[in-house]
Amino acid sequence: MKKVYLDNASTTFIRPEVVQEMTKVLMEDYGNPSSTHSIGRNSKSIIELSRKTIAKCINASAQEIIFTSSATEANNWILRSAVKDLNLTRIITSKVEHHAVLYVVQQLEKEFGIAVDYVDVRPDGTIDLTHLVTLLSKGGATLVSLMHVNNETGVVLDLQRVGMLCKEYKVLFHSDAVQSIGKRSIDLELVSVDFLVASAHKFHGPKGAGFAYIKKNSGIQPLLFGGEQEKGLRAGTEAVHQIAGMAKALALSYANLEEEMNYISELKSYLIGSLRTDFPQISFNGGENGIETILNATFPFSTDKTAMLLFHLDMKGIAVSRGSACQSGSIKPSHVLAEMLTEKDLKKPNLRISLSHYNTKEDIDLLLEGLKGISF
Ligand code: PLP
Repeated sequence: MKKVYLDNASTTFIRPEVVQEMTKVLMEDYGNPSSTHSIGRNSKSIIELSRKTIAKCINASAQEIIFTSSATEANNWILRSAVKDLNLTRIITSKVEHHAVLYVVQQLEKEFGIAVDYVDVRPDGTIDLTHLVTLLSKGGATLVSLMHVNNETGVVLDLQRVGMLCKEYKVLFHSDAVQSIGKRSIDLELVSVDFLVASAHKFHGPKGAGFAYIKKNSGIQPLLFGGEQEKGLRAGTEAVHQIAGMAKALALSYANLEEEMNYISELKSYLIGSLRTDFPQISFNGGENGIETILNATFPFSTDKTAMLLFHLDMKGIAVSRGSACQSGSIKPSHVLAEMLTEKDLKKPNLRISLSHYNTKEDIDLLLEGLKGISF
């Protein structure tokens, strides 16, 4: 049975060139980057070259890139330090953020008694920037945390516009860019962001590797204490092979950006067209014009079949998600869709279909065949 992988917002297939690079580092470059001998210095230079490569991809300076074990760690670190060390008293965020932000903010609210304001989300999944301005105009030592691309709907935030607003109101801006880095060009000379977070396994790199962009002189303090790695900001021996793999994956994503994104965009149009033909009553949550890689659809099937949908497709070798990966399999409705849909629509079966350049039209045809085979 051919496996059809359409869950690229959960994680992606690692590029063979990345595996090659990582294998080389694992086999040959085994030194501890903190050791002063040449074997250690060699590992150190791999890390520093990787840092430069990543910084160049997003037009930041190398010293502003700090390696972490995941985007979850980077989000936790930045949000916690912003409250604890930069003495912020308020966070403005939205209820459609990933739990790696949402639950951290809720925890900080409990621990530090900070104020938390949620920007309104429109029914189409976009963030209401007029409401953001209203919240910003209340003043106070504030951090805005809004994701660049929503991982469930693919809705894209105007990063530049929000960055400008944050600058105008003199507040800090953090953005979880996990679903956009490697898929959208990001120029940090043009966009005013203080903190940005990425995860390698979302751009065809290894799992367990991420990075944070921390703007120069931000005052952020470490979450983990120990060795002097990462300029004292993130203790722990660096995962050299993971970092090298992440840099290789990002460089390849940006080298092929236009070609791969055009290809994915065509696939997405084909997917939308095919779904509309076979299920004329389908609706797309967050619309059709979000990031090329993500499409979130509500199907005109009976509501009691919601939990069966994923299972049925899985039996046919088709991997898709409902909402974010951590929620699939559970009958709990998506916290993102809950902000956008009516109670009635929320109960209807919905799928997140997420694409990469490794997918083909045949994959989409197989998905459609699988969906049509469901006797709902
Ligand atoms: N933020 C977003 C938007 C995500 O989609 C994910 C992964 O699903 C994460 C954060 C967590 O990333 P990581 O797996 O690197 O912890």
